[in-house]
Amino acid sequence: TDTRHQYKPDAHTPTSLASKQAINSSMPKQIRIGFAMDTLVEERWKKDRDLFVKAAERMGASVVVASADSNDARQIQQAEQMIADGIDVLVLVPHNADATAAIVNRAHKAGVKVLSYDRLVKNADVDLYVSFDNEQVGRLQADAITTIVPKGKYVYIGGADTDNNAHMFKQGVFDILQPKIDSGQIRVVYDQWSKDWKPSSAFQHMREALQASHNRIDAVIVANDGTAGGVVRALQEKGLAGKIPVAGQDGDLAAAQRIVQGTQTMTVYKPIGKLANVTAELAIKLAKDEPIETTRQVNNGKIEVPSVLLSPVAVNATNIDNTLIADGFHTKEEIYGKN
Ligand code: BGC
Repeated sequence: TDTRHQYKPDAHTPTSLASKQAINSSMPKQIRIGFAMDTLVEERWKKDRDLFVKAAERMGASVVVASADSNDARQIQQAEQMIADGIDVLVLVPHNADATAAIVNRAHKAGVKVLSYDRLVKNADVDLYVSFDNEQVGRLQADAITTIVPKGKYVYIGGADTDNNAHMFKQGVFDILQPKIDSGQIRVVYDQWSKDWKPSSAFQHMREALQASHNRIDAVIVANDGTAGGVVRALQEKGLAGKIPVAGQDGDLAAAQRIVQGTQTMTVYKPIGKLANVTAELAIKLAKDEPIETTRQVNNGKIEVPSVLLSPVAVNATNIDNTLIADGFHTKEEIYGKN
């Protein structure tokens, strides 16, 4: 079976267009973008895929997509294949921030520029990073929860240790918590990464945290909505869902439903359509060697990577209509149910 999950959108480049271009040599060559994704498990990544392909095609480019299913060797092999097939630019969502440096080096040897999408590739000459302000994501979570629970026992359930974002999210959370930890108001009684962002891993961690503290926990900050789902399940087992504030991230439909039902306190919404549009535009510029102006830089251990960072938005039960629903991220019916 084909494990590469090649995504073939309906409006794929028709061969007739390609041959017309060959005849009329004055026409610019169509830009071919490789979109090497880590996973399609979390709901957001399907949106990223669909919106990015749509945006790039609207701008006249074509896109070939692969998903590595959280497998480093597979991601490297898929990217190498794209480079061998002659892509003009690589848009990369790294599974492992360090292992994917090899992909950047390989692409550069072939004259292909690399845009790090949402997640940063570390220790490599990444050409451009387009993401959200990921430390701000963590700060929004901690701001929301510390407003409700200014003191007490906190649990932090992180994302995948191999994902640079997981570290940025945590950094943002602790920017807010640290002064309160120092003053003795807040104590973090449990703090663990969740392997490959697995909800089942977060579920186990939350069980462990509850056991170790005899269920005396006052708030939980979780790195994304998938893992927050695991945390809420563990709380449910003890009859504590809805009694202990829980923060997540992504604006997943299940999280939005938990928010209106009261078992999750907040999520952080990242407008994926914007990310996809900006990336498509900039990836095409990279492919054409056109200059790109950026205002931000993010250090990846090797260089200051020119970066574009979009703003995340805190969402709770009071503003869900004006954010997730108003933006068309989910419909009112999906979130609240039919009645
Ligand atoms: C993304 C999150 C996502 C997580 C798991 C992170 O790098 O920023 O939006 O939930 O990966 O896929």
